[in-house]
Amino acid sequence: ATAASLALTLSACGQDSEGGSDDSGGSAKGGTIGIAMPTKSSERWIADGNNVVKDLQSKGYKTKLVYGEDDPDQQVSQIENLITQGVKALIVAAIDNKSMNNVLQQAADAKIPVISYDRLILGTKNVDYYASFDNEKVGELQGSYIVEKLGLKDGSKKGPFNLELFAGSNDDNNTRYFFQGAMNVLQPYIDKKQLVVKSGQTELTKVTTLRWDGATAQRRMDDILTKSYKSGKVDAVLSPYDGISIGIISALKSDGYGSASKPLPVVTGQDAEVASVKSIIADQQAMTVYKDTRELAKVASTMVDDALNGKKPEVNDTKTYDNGAKVVPAYLLTPVAVDKTNYQKTVVDSGYIKASDLK
Ligand code: BGC
Repeated sequence: ATAASLALTLSACGQDSEGGSDDSGGSAKGGTIGIAMPTKSSERWIADGNNVVKDLQSKGYKTKLVYGEDDPDQQVSQIENLITQGVKALIVAAIDNKSMNNVLQQAADAKIPVISYDRLILGTKNVDYYASFDNEKVGELQGSYIVEKLGLKDGSKKGPFNLELFAGSNDDNNTRYFFQGAMNVLQPYIDKKQLVVKSGQTELTKVTTLRWDGATAQRRMDDILTKSYKSGKVDAVLSPYDGISIGIISALKSDGYGSASKPLPVVTGQDAEVASVKSIIADQQAMTVYKDTRELAKVASTMVDDALNGKKPEVNDTKTYDNGAKVVPAYLLTPVAVDKTNYQKTVVDSGYIKASDLK
C-alpha cells in the first residue's frame, strides 16, 4: 500500500474501531451532522452522544458520532474526516480546547457551523455557539456544600478543618471555572484559617488532574496522605468530577478512613454518575453536581437546526465566555447539587438514572 492509502486505511480504522464513528440511520433530509465527543470512559459522554444523535434524528438529520478516547490528535483527525465526509454542521466537546485552530479553519472554509459542546474551544473565532452549564456555579455548589457540611457556613463550628483541593484537566477550559467557583466560596475561610490546606497545594496549576483521570487523582491523594497527614486527618476534599472522587475515596479508604473513629471527609463530585450516586447512598461520597445532559443535547441540537435554517439560535449569555478570539454566544443550563437527601427527587424521579441501576 502507498503511504497515502495506508494513512487513509488507518484513519478509517480509527473511526470504526471501539469508540469510533457510529453512522446513524435517520432521514437525510437535513443532511448529516458530525458529533465529536471526548471519551467513552465516563458515562456522561456516552449519554451525551446518544442524546444528541436522538435529538438530531428527530429533527430529520443523519448523524456521525465519534469518540476521541481522550487523545487530542485522534479527535482532530476524526473531525477532519467528518469535514471531508461533508457534514453540514459540527458539535464538538473538545479534549484539548486549544487543539482546534486548524481543523476549525477547515470547517469555516467549508461553511460548516460549529457548536462548542459543554467545553469551550479556545483561541479561534471559528466557533459559532457554546452550549453548556453555568460552570462557575458548579464549583460554587461544591464549595458551598463543603462549608455547609462542616458547619462553617452557619457558624455552628469554627474549625480549623483540613481541606485538600483537586481540579480537572488543565486542557479543559471548564476546569478553571469550576475551580474559581469553588474558591470564591472556600478562599475566605482559608484566609480566616478556618480551612487549612496542609499539603500547601492551593494553586490551580498544582492541583489539576490530566484528562480527569481517577487513578491519577488517587495517586495524588495517596501522596498527600503520606506526606502531609502523619498527624491530623482530612475533613473535606474538593473534587471536581465523580471519577476523580472515586479515586480519592479509594486512597482515603486504603489509609483507614471510613470507620467510626476516622470518618471519610466530605468529598464533592460532579455528573451524577451511577457509581457515585451509589457511593452517596452508601454514605461515602458526600455530593455530586447533576447536570441534565439530556437538556444540553437538546440545546445543542436546536442550535444546529436553527443555524442551518437561517434562524438565530437562542442564547442566554453573551458576555462570560471569551475564548481569546471572540466572546462566544452561549446557552447555559443550571447545575443542581445532589446528596443523599435529594437524589431520589433529582436524578431518579427525573428518569436520569434508573432506580434499578442503583441497587
Ligand atoms: C464536564 C464535566 C465532566 C468533566 C470530565 C467537563 O468538561 O463539564 O461534566 O465531569 O469534563 O469528563
